[in-house]
Amino acid sequence: MSESFEEQLERAYPWIEWRKPLHAASPQGKGIGCRYCIARHGLKAAEIPALPQTIAEFHAHLRDSHTVAKTVAHVAQNSSKTAPDSPSTSNRKPSKSQ
Ligand SMILES: [Zn+2]
Repeated sequence: MSESFEEQLERAYPWIEWRKPLHAASPQGKGIGCRYCIARHGLKAAEIPALPQTIAEFHAHLRDSHTVAKTVAHVAQNSSKTAPDSPSTSNRKPSKSQ
C-alpha cells in the first residue's frame, strides 16, 4: 500500500473533517489550524499566531503541504455525497453555538 499520511488519517478517522479549517485561538493570537499538521506535529499555543490567518491561506497550505489538494474543492462543494456505514448518525448536524 502506498497511502499518504493524509489518506491513512482519513481512513482511520473518517468522522473527522480533516480538510475543514480549524479556528484556533490562544492568548498570543489566533489562526486557522490544519488538522493534518496537528495530527502529525501537535499544536502549541505559541504557534497559533503563525498559522494561516485567512481561509485562502489555509487552502493554499492544503494545496502546498498535503496530498489532498486535488480533491479539496470537490469535497468542499459536496461534502456528504455518500454515507458509508451509518446513515442514521451521519445526517445529524450539531447546532453551532459560536
Ligand atoms: Zn497542514
